[in-house]
Amino acid sequence: MTAALNADLHCHSVVSDGTLTPEQLAVRAAANGVQLWALTDHDEVGGQARAQAAAQAQGMRYLTGCEISVTFAGKTVHIVGLGFDAEDPAIRQGLVDTRGGRGERAREMSAQLAAAGIPDAYEGALRYVGNPELISRTHFARFLVETGVCRDTGEVFRRFLTEGKPGFVPHRWASLRNAVQWITGAGGQAVIAHPARYGFTPNEEWALFSEFKAHGGTAVEVVTGSHTAAEAARYADTAREFGLAASRGSDFHSPDESHMDLGRLPPLPEDLTPVWTLLADRIR
Ligand code: AMP
Ligand code: MN
Ligand code: MN
Ligand code: MN
Repeated sequence: MTAALNADLHCHSVVSDGTLTPEQLAVRAAANGVQLWALTDHDEVGGQARAQAAAQAQGMRYLTGCEISVTFAGKTVHIVGLGFDAEDPAIRQGLVDTRGGRGERAREMSAQLAAAGIPDAYEGALRYVGNPELISRTHFARFLVETGVCRDTGEVFRRFLTEGKPGFVPHRWASLRNAVQWITGAGGQAVIAHPARYGFTPNEEWALFSEFKAHGGTAVEVVTGSHTAAEAARYADTAREFGLAASRGSDFHSPDESHMDLGRLPPLPEDLTPVWTLLADRIR
C-alpha cells in the first residue's frame, strides 16, 4: 500500500456523465494496470455495487466513491468521497438532495441556449443521459458537438456553459460542511478534487483548505488528469502545508473526450501520505 501502488480513485460512468458502464471501466482500468480503483460518479452512488463486483471480477481492489458538487465562495468545488458506506442513509439522502435541482437547471440552460439560437438542447442532451436524475453540462456539451455547433466539448464549455456565457445557469450545490460530514459520517475520507481548476484567489483557496480541514476533510487530489506537473508540485506543497494526505485519480470520462486514461497518471510524490493508507480497512 505504498505510493507506488497504481491507484486510480477518480472516474465517471454512465451513472453520471461518463460514456462507459461500470463494467467497461473496470475492464479498461485493469487492462491499464490499475490495482486499486474507485468509481466516483457525480452526486450519485447508484453504480457502486456494480463497480465493486466488476473490480473483483478483474482482480482489482476497490474503494467506494463519489464526487459531490459543493458551492464555496460563489464557485463550484468538487469533493471526492472514498471508502464510505454507500448504504449509509445520511449520505444517500444528501446526494438525493444535491442531485435534486439538476432537472430544472437543465431546462433553464436549454431556454438560454434557445435564445442564443440553439433550439431543443434539453431533448438533445437527454439522449446522452444514462441516469435521468443526473443530467449535467457534459450531456449538453455532447449534444452541441453532435449537432456541429462546436468541434469538441472543450469549445462548448468555453463558448456556452461557463460563467458569463449563454447557457450557464448559476446553481447552489451542497455546502462544504455537509459534503465532508456525509462522507466522514459514513466512514470515508473526503478529498478536495482537482484544486487547480477552481480559479480561486490565494485567500479563497486558503479558506477552502482551512475550512475543509476544520470540517474533517483529510486529503487533496495532487495527481489528476487536469493537473500539469507544475500544478501537481504546487498542490503537493499545499498537502504538506496543511498536513493533508494525497490522492491520485484520472477523472476519466470517455475514450473520446478524456486526455488522461485510467491508471496512466504519474505517481504521487513519495514523501506524501497516500489517502488509501488511511482507508486500509475500507478496501474491498
Ligand atoms: P455539472 O455538474 O452539470 O455542472 O457539469 C460539470 C461537468 O462538466 C464536469 O464534471 C466535467 O465533466 C465537465 N466539464 C466542466 N468543465 C469542462 C471543460 N472546460 N471541458 C470539458 N468538460 C468540462
Ligand atoms: Mn464530469
Ligand atoms: Mn470534478
Ligand atoms: Mn470528476
